Amino acid sequence: MSALWDHASPEAASARERGIHCIPLPTPFGIGPINTYLLDDDPLTLIDTGPNSGLALDALELELGKLGKKIEDLELIIVSHQHMDHLGLTEILARRSGAPVAALGSLVPCLSRYDEWMEADDRFAAAVMLRHGIPEETCLALRSVSRSFRGWGAATTVTQPLEQGGELKFRDRTLTVHHRPGHSPSDTIFFDADNRTLLAADHLIASVSSNPLIARPLDAPLEEAEDAGKLARPKSLMIYLESLAKTREMEPIDLILPGHGPGFTDHVELIDQRFQLHERRADKLYGLIAEQPRSGYDLAQALWGNVAVTQAYLTLSEALGHVDVLISEGRVAERFDDDGTAYFEATSSPTS
Ligand SMILES: [Zn+2]
Repeated sequence: MSALWDHASPEAASARERGIHCIPLPTPFGIGPINTYLLDDDPLTLIDTGPNSGLALDALELELGKLGKKIEDLELIIVSHQHMDHLGLTEILARRSGAPVAALGSLVPCLSRYDEWMEADDRFAAAVMLRHGIPEETCLALRSVSRSFRGWGAATTVTQPLEQGGELKFRDRTLTVHHRPGHSPSDTIFFDADNRTLLAADHLIASVSSNPLIARPLDAPLEEAEDAGKLARPKSLMIYLESLAKTREMEPIDLILPGHGPGFTDHVELIDQRFQLHERRADKLYGLIAEQPRSGYDLAQALWGNVAVTQAYLTLSEALGHVDVLISEGRVAERFDDDGTAYFEATSSPTS
């Protein structure tokens, strides 16, 4: 588990000065608690809602109570992205409070048919895993784990679709909406330029490098999941690095409030560290590919060893992300063997 939000930290204090209260909620996932944020403003707003569990609902009610609020007081709910630890309670909270639900417009189809969407995502993930050499029994095991997790998310009706560059106006602040895909296709961050505050969700986390998970594009019709193998694989890491580069230019920011772990201050330094980390990993993978052609599964294993079944797709996503970078640089090419498994080979020997 990564580091936790610290209510006694200077970052928590400066969040409170800005009328922002972090309410971490328990999740059943390895990442640990998810940070929801209460904006004590007009409208009274909750950013992200936690997984769909009694434990999370109870914790939220308790913490709201300490702040003199209750669920029925909420006047706006904002969803940062499509992952279940961030949105599972949204529909329940919206129903109890009558609050409108705001989320990226392109996320609306996914949120309205969440179960089907997750099932389609899983079929797509299984097709990607098979193509890249992950054994069939691992794919099957992962799909049943994923099904057993499905109830932590829940469908929700978005009543206020958001657009890139749009604004959310409050009594004490204005939040600008920025779409920053990569960790998921729908990552949305919210910037308060006057108070130099960024609500970053899972786009930028100090305590852990965000996974650039390969997921179905938001505009892919659900029906296409039947033929998931033919759907082009999004280059999630490249998309993510591009998003990070945009966020890097968003100076000045004094306070970053992430979806997990502690708040932090220097986004430029952190983003530069992430760039370096990904460059090192790409170089390491290139070295492995230059030795001999390898599948995505080989590469994930070489980097992270034999990981738990639940981590197989995360590590494959990251390995393929680096391969995409190497392919775009012309250093690596993708080939297929007779049974359709993809493997990667170096395009030429190093020139120097
Ligand atoms: Zn996430």
